[in-house]
Amino acid sequence: MSFSDIPVDVGPVYEGERIRAKQMYVELGGPKIETGHFELVRVRPAKEIKDGQIKVIGPDLKDMEEGSTHPIGILVEVSGPELEEDLEAVFERRVHEFCNFVNGIMHLNQRYTNWMRISKAAFEKGFNSFELLGTVLIRLYKAELPIIKQAQVTIYTDPKEIEKPYEMAMKVYNARDERARSINDEDVDMYYGCVLCQSFAPTHCCIITPNRMSLCGSISWFDARAASRVDPKGPLFEVEPKKCLNDVAGEFEGVNETLKKRSLGEIDRIYLYSGMEYPHTSCGCFEAIDFYIPEINGHGIIDRSYDGVAINGLPFSAMANQTGGGKQMPGFNGISIQYIISPKYQLYDGLQDGLKSGIETVVWMGKTVKDRIAEFLPADLVDKIATEEDVQDINQLRDWIEKVKHPIMETEGYKAAIGGEEEEEEWEEEGAMVPMGTVGMTIPGAGGVGGFKVILKNCKIHAESIIIKRIEPKRKK
Ligand code: SF4
Ligand code: ZN
Repeated sequence: MSFSDIPVDVGPVYEGERIRAKQMYVELGGPKIETGHFELVRVRPAKEIKDGQIKVIGPDLKDMEEGSTHPIGILVEVSGPELEEDLEAVFERRVHEFCNFVNGIMHLNQRYTNWMRISKAAFEKGFNSFELLGTVLIRLYKAELPIIKQAQVTIYTDPKEIEKPYEMAMKVYNARDERARSINDEDVDMYYGCVLCQSFAPTHCCIITPNRMSLCGSISWFDARAASRVDPKGPLFEVEPKKCLNDVAGEFEGVNETLKKRSLGEIDRIYLYSGMEYPHTSCGCFEAIDFYIPEINGHGIIDRSYDGVAINGLPFSAMANQTGGGKQMPGFNGISIQYIISPKYQLYDGLQDGLKSGIETVVWMGKTVKDRIAEFLPADLVDKIATEEDVQDINQLRDWIEKVKHPIMETEGYKAAIGGEEEEEEWEEEGAMVPMGTVGMTIPGAGGVGGFKVILKNCKIHAESIIIKRIEPKRKK
């Protein structure tokens, strides 16, 4: 396969390339875009595909002003005698990988949170049309996935024209998610693994079960099964769970063995249903973050669209640094939104605390994520989970919990966490206390590859002042 007619290099070596705001020519999709944006793959009958056709609906790259932001919709339609609808989601996940092959394109996220940047350097070299992107996608799809025989690509950038295909894409995502909710881990004898993200997080391997959709939120158990059937040696593969070592924690002998092999020996034990003990690793493309709130002994959840700081004083970006990188991070888990409404959601952590389920540990959620899943949350709990509209800090959250009688109140962990209030007031009078919550106890940006993390559970640090100083690296003369 040749890309000699493309003005920039194309290849896996460019995956992981970062394009900072100063280096970008334009930004596409992402959090600044309020209209819908999406990427979608659909399997069609051969007669509906014009192989190689690329359509650009809306302004092309060369018509866009430097530094501007636009919606982006990428619709890839494919056909082939062996293709089935179950393969669409897995094909769709490759949009991320294939876009990142292009030197000068950074692609993040998936589905309706897709976010791209095109670099000035690529634009100056002549990468000035989405037709070039369409050409690269079609060539890579057909070369990397030979069961795809015909492919066409439509790229939408017009804010009006994108509306209909965006709505269609949302319907497809919802139908996939609904189907994924129809079975449970106990109903199957095979789980699946995915190592597509190892180019970013070399020790990360997703374990996909019916109750635990991949953390990127784009590959369900059905999708993974279909992909591993057509390409058993590919990035998605079978994981035989073998002996169950702990059904509440979701620990399986076969899962541990697979992880050891696939994580270069780094991870050899996970609890699929815990965020606190031997948690699943996170790469970087999780839909949401589930974080522990030590002052309450409960959990909070934010998704990528969350703007501002969460109840623990950290924005999504700081927590994402802490969470990602393929390490096990107790208290910071990258998760899919579907997993939150799974009956197995952090089941071990809930039961350890004497609760009925894992979802009962959740005391706070960003409003957008709560609105998305409210109809699936337990009826007696949904109104007890606060959002940023109800409370703004930990003290208010504590008052909220007591007011709504959130089940976390009954846990020993909560009682221990809120204990010592009287002592705190005494110290406050002397003006000598800086109560330190999660903000002070974690080091955002220091997690992930090569970093470290300190979690001090249920602890207060008293200090007269705190100096946080950046240490500048010594410059060579
Ligand atoms: Fe695969 Fe997991 Fe990456 Fe999704 S997040 S592409 S399932 S490794
Ligand atoms: Zn990933």
